[in-house]
Amino acid sequence: MANQEDIFKKVISHAKEYGFIFQSSEIYDGLSAVYDYGQNGAELKKNIREYWWQAMVQLNDNIVGIDAAIFMHPTTWKASGHVDAFNDPLIDNKDSKKRYRADVLVEDHVAKIEGKIDKEVAKASKRFGDTFDKEQFLKTNPRVLDYRTKANSILKRLGKSLENEDLADVKALIEELGIACPISGSKNWTDVKQFNLMFGTKLGATADSAMDLYLRPETAQGIFVNFLNVQKTGRMKIPFGIAQTGKAFRNEIVARQFIFRMREFEQMEMQYFIKPGTQKEWYDTWKEKRLGWHLSLGLGEEKYRFHNHEKLAHYADAAADIEFKFPFGFKELEGIHSRTDFDLGSHEKFSGKKLQYFDPEENKSYVPYVLETSIGLDRMFLAVFSSALQEEELDNNTTRTVLKIPAVLAPTKAAVLPLLKRDGLPEIAHNIVDELKWDYNVAYDEKDAVGRRYRRQDAVGTPFCITVDHQTLEDGTVTIRHRDTMEQQRVAQKALKDIISKEVDVRQWLQRI
Ligand code: ATP
Repeated sequence: MANQEDIFKKVISHAKEYGFIFQSSEIYDGLSAVYDYGQNGAELKKNIREYWWQAMVQLNDNIVGIDAAIFMHPTTWKASGHVDAFNDPLIDNKDSKKRYRADVLVEDHVAKIEGKIDKEVAKASKRFGDTFDKEQFLKTNPRVLDYRTKANSILKRLGKSLENEDLADVKALIEELGIACPISGSKNWTDVKQFNLMFGTKLGATADSAMDLYLRPETAQGIFVNFLNVQKTGRMKIPFGIAQTGKAFRNEIVARQFIFRMREFEQMEMQYFIKPGTQKEWYDTWKEKRLGWHLSLGLGEEKYRFHNHEKLAHYADAAADIEFKFPFGFKELEGIHSRTDFDLGSHEKFSGKKLQYFDPEENKSYVPYVLETSIGLDRMFLAVFSSALQEEELDNNTTRTVLKIPAVLAPTKAAVLPLLKRDGLPEIAHNIVDELKWDYNVAYDEKDAVGRRYRRQDAVGTPFCITVDHQTLEDGTVTIRHRDTMEQQRVAQKALKDIISKEVDVRQWLQRI
């Protein structure tokens, strides 16, 4: 496969062709940045959610899970800061009538400057060959230093203007940098305006009694408003966590990159309530634990990196992203935020209710600090799916498309294939399906030559194919084929369950953390 764009196109078309992801309401030409999960996608998504839930809730005796409503009292969003501060700075191009996020236009411009640095490095590495010292080059080459200074000063100015809400300066920056609309090529821009990302809706039947509501833009607030309910009824002692998975909604402006940025998406969040003053320690611990969870899936260590935030959100005293190498580059997959007592403190103020914890060791009450881990389920899906999709050259000069999804997450764990549609082979195959289906999803396929059937299962990521043939009639053995190595073994039917469980059992995977 060639460049990044081609790889990404292949990911999107494979997801559609094999029943993983469809555009929402496609028969009406779709709805932008909204997607539906098909028969295989729903299974993969469910398995990722479960893998997260088991690691968080099942394996930690001080973390419990809840399921809060999507609708919340509107004051929640005043207290959380979303009414006032959940904005994107927008700018329109007057000629193309296209709308952009002003900060993204500037960041894309900076990315181009950084691209020039990469080009200088590539050129020099070619020129100097084995003696090339990249670190040294980056530190001393005048052209590189010049680009670096330029990029840094642009980002610094952007950060400062956004922080001060100086939108006129963001526009001035766009004009000074000579940024043109990618569609029209024109530099004819409107002023920069703030745009709130929350979707509004109404509760109630009549216009005057209706209450303005928002669709939640994050699941976290459902946890904060239930802090006391859970702490009291669960008799939880600090430190403890509350976890939740569920839908969130954001009216995203730059809605591209498939399921990376959606308007309706799912989050998996955990809020860990801790003693004030211990946040640094828990921040480091959770960064490490979450990276461990990702690495346990074996997608490759080189695909992850931390990005520490310099510019912090209004609620945080430290924040980092776990970035993943998507087909379009390293981008945020999960956020780890040290949120101080901002949320509980603010809900105390707005609700007039005490949201405190009595610490028996300290013999006093306090508003706990919070350490949050927040990951997008759809982004995690894209991370798994895009890195699993591979095109392999085989020995006989053919290629195969295979989805090397970690076996624990695979939508279907095994497919049972009778070699022929007669001689009693389908009956035996059905019996094997009936036996295995109590433990995991199993498929039955009798159509086409067995090689074609293997390819079909490879393309949806099924880790095992079990073939029933004439020898099965004689001695009760079958062949089991492994998706990744394509190796085939002859085994007794009764050994199947153990062989499959060994690879798909969640214990084998989560024990690696
Ligand atoms: P970004 O900077 O990419 O907009 P964010 O910093 O606003 O993301 P958070 O508010 O920290 O994201 O949300 C936590 C997680 O939720 C993100 O790490 C991401 O995985 C996921 N997420 C956020 N927005 C979206 C979206 N529009 N579509 C899909 N997933 C999302």
